[in-house]
Amino acid sequence: MKIGIFANETKKSMRIKNELITKFKERHFILDDTHPDIVITIGGDGTLLSAFHSYEDQLENIRFVGVHTGHLGFYTDWRLDELDDLIISLQSDNGQAIAYPLLDVSVHYRNQSKPDKFLALNEATLKRIGMTMAADVYIGGDFFERFRGDGLCVSTPTGSTAYNKSLGGAVIHPSLAALQLTEIGSLNNLVYRTISSPLIIAPNDWITIRPNQTSDYFMTLDQKTVYGKEIEEIMFKISKRKIRFAKYRHTAFWRRVQTAFIGDSYEN
Ligand code: NAD
Repeated sequence: MKIGIFANETKKSMRIKNELITKFKERHFILDDTHPDIVITIGGDGTLLSAFHSYEDQLENIRFVGVHTGHLGFYTDWRLDELDDLIISLQSDNGQAIAYPLLDVSVHYRNQSKPDKFLALNEATLKRIGMTMAADVYIGGDFFERFRGDGLCVSTPTGSTAYNKSLGGAVIHPSLAALQLTEIGSLNNLVYRTISSPLIIAPNDWITIRPNQTSDYFMTLDQKTVYGKEIEEIMFKISKRKIRFAKYRHTAFWRRVQTAFIGDSYEN
């Protein structure tokens, strides 16, 4: 088994990375950051997101393991005091995995014949800063509404606890391959009207956003920002590809949500 280690740049993560490298060498694991079978991330959810994009081309061959250096994250299960347990799990690995849906984003630009294609693990957003964003929204190819406001967010189920949640979106169990569309600061008055509630889109449907043509849109894909090109249309759908995590043990999704957002302050 080939192991890749992907750490953020804090001193703590670097120290853990070096510790892990020593332990893996002692146990004769092959370390390979270029074509790994398992990628161990050290940091937080943001580090896992970065690792996901770094290994985007190899998702079919890779399983991820997230070690967190702070709080339990949504993509990071293992604590620093559990590194020896993690190594034992890797030694008895039999390929066990849990897979989560991803978001396919196709961006058609004016004056460009081929669309740019992106993949997101949490979400993609389209925003206009300073001025109102005006965009037509289609679901499954049918016109749904004309949006005016700051922007729109399309999230995956595992991304539903991230930006989507801050926007009032629902938390979706990752076994449901559904997309969620949420509004960012929509205008609603006698002239302009939007649905004003999050929409959950079925796995075979797709969302299209056609902004009014200007080039001052920001598109975000997880941590990445794309800016400055005249966007004609963006299509969002559930990807055929998935991210896989090595499933050596399982934290139930609702337990994770409870731990992250509620805590035990109301337990009797
Ligand atoms: P970051 O590291 O500051 O992450 C922001 C926070 O989001 C962290 O607390 C992280 O643990 C949490 N997070 C990330 N993915 C999550 C998930 N799937 N479920 C629950 N929490 C999650 O910033 P970053 O590394 O640039 O992360 C990018 C992410 O930040 C984006 O994908 C977006 O979801 C999120 N974000 C949130 C807001 C907001 O809530 N208002 C605004 C912008 C971006």
